[in-house]
Amino acid sequence: MGLERPEGHEVQLEGLWAAAKADRLPHALLFTGADGIGKHMAAKWFLAGLFCERGPAEPCGECGACRRLAAESFGDLFVIDPEADGVDRIQVGRIARREQEDGGCLEEFLSLRPAEGGWRGVILRDVERATRSAENALLKTLEEPGEACCIILVSAHPSRLLDTVRSRCVQVGFESPTRETCAGVLMDAGFDAATSKQVSRWVSSAPGRALRWARRSASSERALLVEVLHGAVDALDASPRVLALEGDLGEGTPAALARRRAAGFVDLAVEVMRDLARSGAGLPAADLPHGDLPEALLSRPGLSGAARRGSETLWRARRELDSNLAPEAVLDRALSQLQEVFTGAAAPS
Ligand SMILES: [Zn+2]
Repeated sequence: MGLERPEGHEVQLEGLWAAAKADRLPHALLFTGADGIGKHMAAKWFLAGLFCERGPAEPCGECGACRRLAAESFGDLFVIDPEADGVDRIQVGRIARREQEDGGCLEEFLSLRPAEGGWRGVILRDVERATRSAENALLKTLEEPGEACCIILVSAHPSRLLDTVRSRCVQVGFESPTRETCAGVLMDAGFDAATSKQVSRWVSSAPGRALRWARRSASSERALLVEVLHGAVDALDASPRVLALEGDLGEGTPAALARRRAAGFVDLAVEVMRDLARSGAGLPAADLPHGDLPEALLSRPGLSGAARRGSETLWRARRELDSNLAPEAVLDRALSQLQEVFTGAAAPS
């Protein structure tokens, strides 16, 4: 699993290890906080410290348990990660013994004897992606996971979970690290200082999200978006250029990658519209993630109205992409409308 120390979450982790030492660790935890700030990494690191032969504490990295974890051969950890599995939803088969699902199911893992003899740990990443029947199946497990077992649900959107799931867990909130910390994570991953700083600002210092954005070249996406808003490029020429951008979008078929690129671009454009609306309402650029947009755009007359109409267009595009319409057609239409809104008849000043 590649043991990596998460940045900026020491207080929460120390508190949890102390609870485990004192024999009062809740058996079900819900890690919450903004998308991409390292909750999943913190869950892995916390469990590693629980499994560590010198723990519960910061994992030593040297004992047998730590080494087996790093080599992904540790038997008492079960992770459900829709991101890594490349699936949209967590199906009931991953939780309960129903239909056959790749990767085994949680109930089965918990029914086996512990392989290592100490703690057992479970992580459900992005648990809000569980289907309703998967969530219902999870209820029973959350109630009685068994001895020396810690289940960690990870979610940036805990309000989407069933009340009954939430109420069975002790919630642990995680904060975003500083922008400097976030930029440091990007530079460690090989991005230049300017890109690292810029992207960290855009994602409000969420390192996981910043890495995804930097890898897919969000800087090029935003530069293209600005050209469209200025009318410097024709909207219909812009959409193929968006889809042809270089960048790492992860695994998938060409069609899936095109859809991911288009969805990422639209998500970024939605955030740009949100900041333009805020700028139009008088918020200082320094307080906005996209406050580094060209001044001409940030001070455009009638900005709030344009940004609102732009957002509506983009939300519709996002829904169309979710319902599998062709990415290029969706982008063509959305970018044409955006361009019309931003370059059309000058708004009343
Ligand atoms: Zn260790």
